Amino acid sequence: MATRDSPDFNVGVEEEEEEGTPSPSSISPPSSPLSYFDRDRHVAFFEMLYNLMPYHYQSQEINRLTLAFFTVSGLHLLQALDRVDKDRVANWVLSFQAHPRSRAELKNGQFYGFHGSRTSQFPLNENGVSVHNAGHLASTYCALAILKTVGFNLLTIDKESILISMRNLQQPDGSFMPLHIGAETDLRFVYCAAAICFMLEDWSGMDKEKAKDYILSCQSYDGGFGLMPGLESHGGGTYCAVASLRLMGYIEDDLLSKNATSFVVNVPLLLDWCMQRQAIDGGFQGRANKYSDTCYAFWVGAVLKILGGYKLIDKIALRRFLLTCQYEFGGFSKYPSELPDLYHSYYGFTAFSLLEESGLNPLCTELGMTDLAALGIL
Ligand SMILES: [Zn+2]
Repeated sequence: MATRDSPDFNVGVEEEEEEGTPSPSSISPPSSPLSYFDRDRHVAFFEMLYNLMPYHYQSQEINRLTLAFFTVSGLHLLQALDRVDKDRVANWVLSFQAHPRSRAELKNGQFYGFHGSRTSQFPLNENGVSVHNAGHLASTYCALAILKTVGFNLLTIDKESILISMRNLQQPDGSFMPLHIGAETDLRFVYCAAAICFMLEDWSGMDKEKAKDYILSCQSYDGGFGLMPGLESHGGGTYCAVASLRLMGYIEDDLLSKNATSFVVNVPLLLDWCMQRQAIDGGFQGRANKYSDTCYAFWVGAVLKILGGYKLIDKIALRRFLLTCQYEFGGFSKYPSELPDLYHSYYGFTAFSLLEESGLNPLCTELGMTDLAALGIL
């Protein structure tokens, strides 16, 4: 029996039920879903979020850069980046970078990436020492993605500090911790590290071979990937594994058309697991026996796109399911006929971009944002 009790997958934001959040069940659902992707409403919704994030997101203040990434990148996917003050956004993002006072500090075990918000930017102590540097891999991935989106030249930032100190976060088994102390290690942060190296065009920030071995150790008996070795296969973990391997250059695009003996992962089993995630209602589930959820149309759909298997899914049924999650005033919800949220709205846009909906920019599936190269921007 399908269940809906699982938290959503996200590299930076944990979704929580918040006190004061209107219960979706208390809101009347729209009478019938629109039959089209309502771009103008989505632009209006995201422009509102850009100008003033509603109070429901207060508890996620620590992930401010992640929220900003969804907002700015969402407007870009909607071909509405003109709503954004690009210089202001770039300067704001840059203000979150942690800077070492000397090159020697880069070996002190801390990570000189980007803080997630002002509340994690602790002041120096009385000796001028940064005791509580909270630079975070997910915040750094989001910061760089926003900077790329608004056209900031990443070659001008202090990438050496980011990359040298990022090696402090890689564990002996090849996985990554997101910050230098007291955190879990799993595929989400391997993905963030790979995306950071890819965007900075410099792989000195990680031991790629070790990271690859860790990823491969996460493939389960059923073909999907768990977030850690031995865990249940999961759509988000599978995306992180496959997208990381693609960014690192260990797998090519459209693997299904290539010689099967050269694969580093079990592709037939992986393809089978992904195809089974499309449920009877047309949507994608994150794991077996779960309800369809908007965001997995991206997490699993993107894996299929990279593998060359996206053409095998039922696109008409997926589109029909996604439209039942489209809110009448813009945005997408997790499940049909509920209130929208920023996270599922963003992944609704990426899912429609994978479906090549008009009015949306093409998607770079491995980075989860607009394909700048396809637009001729890079
Ligand atoms: Zn979801």
